[in-house]
Amino acid sequence: MSAEPRHSPGGSPPSRRPPAFDLVLFGGTGDLAMRKLLPALYRRHLAGLVEPGSRIIGIARTDHSTAAYVALAEAACRQHLGDDFRADAWPAFAATLGYARLDATRAADYAALGALLGDRGEVTRLFFLSTAPDLFAAICGHLAAAGIVTADSRIMLEKPLGEDAPSARRINETVGAIASERQIYRIDHYLGKETVQNLLALRFGNALFEPLWRRGQIRHVQITVAEQLGVELRGEFYDRTGALRDMVQNHLLQLLCILAMEPPATSAADAVRDEKLKVLRALRPIAEADALLKTVRGQYRGGVIGATKAAAYLEEPGVAADSRTETFVAIKAEIDTWRWAGVPFYLRTGKRLPEHVAEIVVTFDQVPHSIFEGPFSSQPPNRLVIRLQPDECITLRILAKSPGEAMRLKPVDLALDLGESFKGRPLEAYERLLGDAIQGNLTLFMRRDEVDAAWRWIDPIRAAWDLDDDGPRPYAAGSWGPAAASALIARDGFAWHGEL
Ligand code: NAP
Repeated sequence: MSAEPRHSPGGSPPSRRPPAFDLVLFGGTGDLAMRKLLPALYRRHLAGLVEPGSRIIGIARTDHSTAAYVALAEAACRQHLGDDFRADAWPAFAATLGYARLDATRAADYAALGALLGDRGEVTRLFFLSTAPDLFAAICGHLAAAGIVTADSRIMLEKPLGEDAPSARRINETVGAIASERQIYRIDHYLGKETVQNLLALRFGNALFEPLWRRGQIRHVQITVAEQLGVELRGEFYDRTGALRDMVQNHLLQLLCILAMEPPATSAADAVRDEKLKVLRALRPIAEADALLKTVRGQYRGGVIGATKAAAYLEEPGVAADSRTETFVAIKAEIDTWRWAGVPFYLRTGKRLPEHVAEIVVTFDQVPHSIFEGPFSSQPPNRLVIRLQPDECITLRILAKSPGEAMRLKPVDLALDLGESFKGRPLEAYERLLGDAIQGNLTLFMRRDEVDAAWRWIDPIRAAWDLDDDGPRPYAAGSWGPAAASALIARDGFAWHGEL
């Protein structure tokens, strides 16, 4: 491990220029490529971070000329970058774009890709698999058979990485057969968010928090990722997946790991990932008998969000009329370590909730004894709110004396608006993650054993739900989920942030 370079969690040192690369983008015409990946690469180009000589090669089955592909990419970048799109810089970026028609399942199609890639010596080669995961095995097998994966090639994988521990293992074995772990970049785009890395900065860059970051000082932690959107055009996919697999197994557990891990010795990828893995392994399993007490699942019915009417989940296109898929999950998680014994971590995520918000709320213990007038309970505890979206800010609630004769305490917020404090545009998650992969920094990517440990914690919850005849509890679109979610946390004497 000592041989591992010490990258900053946010990427390689700025002094080092990123290498020229060949990025082969399987699923190059898909929604993710058009909405996120190509705009992120164009932003890197605008920032001068795409080395001359780099190539981005879109791959899909449909026949497109390179010119037609460039036109698709330009339209997507214009649409998704808005005012940040710079027409004058486009031609140089367009010159890096290419397209190859290839059916991922046809071995014969890979020879042409091999010829296109050729032998470009020092150029870093990346394969981004932005296709349905059932194509991963074919892609990996055919790439290897065609001799295209070099010892330094990198393979980037989008979620979902399986639907349970066995299927994730199969994917990991497939990819592991053609590349070593240091070549595999498993994406959880939450880890690419600036505020998530700020969490690392907050915890490990300041002496202030570490002594408080434990039982005896922290009472409980909440992690909420709420969406206003329903399933949109992904009904069929979502109905097979549900919120537990789509959100909790990856995004919420990754946030929990960053919050709860021990300080790593360095910011090197494996130092950080070793500590995250320990958290996942210390999560107390939720056995069948506990599942109904410690978890709540819900499914939205029709309702109103803002002023807009929203249809019920069961009326969404692609969703089975009798579906029992959950669109909302709340879980009480417990971490069996000295640091966290007795400190509950409440996780909550759902669709068709009243707000689009992702936030972490750390509630500290109350002072042990009040010297001030008024009921003790009127002195709310300190609270740290780390908001990841829509805006990125960190707020610490403290108590201060309100002006006047009487010694009355009132909560006030110390608020750090990261957008205001640091002028300059924050990197988008995919912009960061693509840059890190190009530069060989694995810190913000999930290691195989992390993915496996996360599924091992999730699978028994899923299995317990499958045995429960009642199915998910209904909630109105535009509400904060089923009442049982409030009861879950109220049983411990707490309330969800914003519900007080
Ligand atoms: P998509 O819009 O359905 O695009 C699929 C892409 O794969 C298209 O370019 C398609 O083009 C290509 N493709 C399909 N079959 C192929 C084959 N046999 N050989 C070569 N290319 C083939 O999917 P997406 O939304 O971009 O999602 C891609 C992956 O990322 C999925 O696993 C998804 O779950 C995951 N993901 C997506 C998002 C998102 O926001 N969209 C977010 C997170 C994760 P042709 O039909 O022309 O072949």
